[in-house]
Parts: sequence; C-alpha cells; structure tokens
Amino acid sequence: MIVAIDGPAGSGKSTIAKEIASQLHFKKLDTGAMYRAVAYTALSRGTDLDDEAAIEDLARSIDIRFTSATGEDTMISIDGVDASKEIRTPQVDANVSKVSAYPGVRSAMLVHQRRAAEDADIVAEGRDIGTVVFPHAEVKVFLTADPRERARRRVLQRHAGESLSCDAIEAEVDETLAALKRRDKLDASREVAPLVPAEDAVHIDSTSHSINEVVSMIEQLITEKR
Ligand code: C5P
Repeated sequence: MIVAIDGPAGSGKSTIAKEIASQLHFKKLDTGAMYRAVAYTALSRGTDLDDEAAIEDLARSIDIRFTSATGEDTMISIDGVDASKEIRTPQVDANVSKVSAYPGVRSAMLVHQRRAAEDADIVAEGRDIGTVVFPHAEVKVFLTADPRERARRRVLQRHAGESLSCDAIEAEVDETLAALKRRDKLDASREVAPLVPAEDAVHIDSTSHSINEVVSMIEQLITEKR
C-alpha cells in the first residue's frame, strides 16, 4: 500500500508520516530530504545554483541513502557521509526550491522514489507524491495548517528544550513565516510537479488538531482502503 502525504512547508508531514510508519510498520520516505541533499551538495561544492545543467548532473551523480529504520528519524548520507543535520539549515531552506524546480533534478529523484516503494508498504511525504510520484497511491492526503501556526511550530521545534522569551520567539516566527511563504510560493508556481493537491486527495487542516488526531484520521483512511 502507498500512502501519499503532500502539503506546504511545516504542515507536519514529517512528524505525521513518521508516526504512521512507526505504528503500522510502513517504510517512510522523506522526499524533501532528497531535494535538500541536492541543494546542500551544490552549496558546499560551490556549484552555481543558476547553472541548471551542472545542478542536474550533480543530482544524477550523487549517492543519496537513507539509513532510517521504520519510524525512526531519517538519517541521510550523501556519497557515504552523514548529512542529516546539514540539509536542514536556513541556507538550504532558502535555496532548495530553486534546485527542485529543475526538471532533470526531479526526474533523477523520481527514479529513487519509485524504487523505494517496490515490494513495501510505504508512507511517502513531499509536494508531488499524490500527483506525480505515485498517482495511484491508495491513500492521498493534502495536509495544510495556518501559515503562522506552521512557522510557530518550526521555531518551537528548532528551540526545543531552550527557554526563549516570547518576544524572541515572535521575532523568529515573523522571519520564519516570511521564508516559509516564499518557499511555498516557489514550490506552488513552478512548471514541473508544482505543489498542488491531487484531485482525489483528502484535505486535512492540522491547525487545531493534535498530531495524534491527524494520525488517527489518516489511519482511518488507510483502514478503509485495506
Ligand atoms: O519537505 P521539505 O520542507 O523538507 O522539502 C524541501 C523542499 O524540497 C521543498 O520546499 C521543495 O522545494 C522540495 N520538494 C519537492 N518535491 C517533493 C518534496 C520536496 O519539490 N516531493
């Protein structure tokens, strides 16, 4: 079975997918991490991000591997070197949409994504899973949340365990919100595989729901299809 979860940045896709994978013993596929790996490698090698051909070559040549077991945090290695933290920096956030818009980058990632679903129950999350990667997925969810709430969750996640003043948090939420909106706009307006809900996707707005509630809603959809 294939469960596709798409939606904008910070809507909770990763957390929800991880929980579902863990509870149902599905494989989890974080496709955003793959595009992040391409952006991170280009930035660290100093490859010109405007050089489409060079970025596409890079995407085809790097070896991206996930080392997570079902339900655990995704560990990712690029050419054998762990880059799990490096792919999540604000610099990668700011540049990933540029490289993910290149058709050659997308087709290189598509091959890996489809291979991951061979002979496995899988929960895959991203932007084009239900529309392009797995158009025949049995369950398709488009997960959204109020943009400010999404930004707030990101900031709180970033500073988990730290004590920050409300003012400091609000200032960072403003900054994160602007970056998040910019990325959503780029992802939704690109020509190839834009961020749009599949026609047959079930829309879930997680703004006022807990993680467990959203997980239950999706597991209900899975049960209905089994
Ligand atoms: O999900 P995450 O925020 O890690 O995704 C990072 C970026 O990767 C997105 O902003 C988008 O540009 C790209 N992406 C994509 N298609 C996917 C998943 C992610 O273009 N299926």
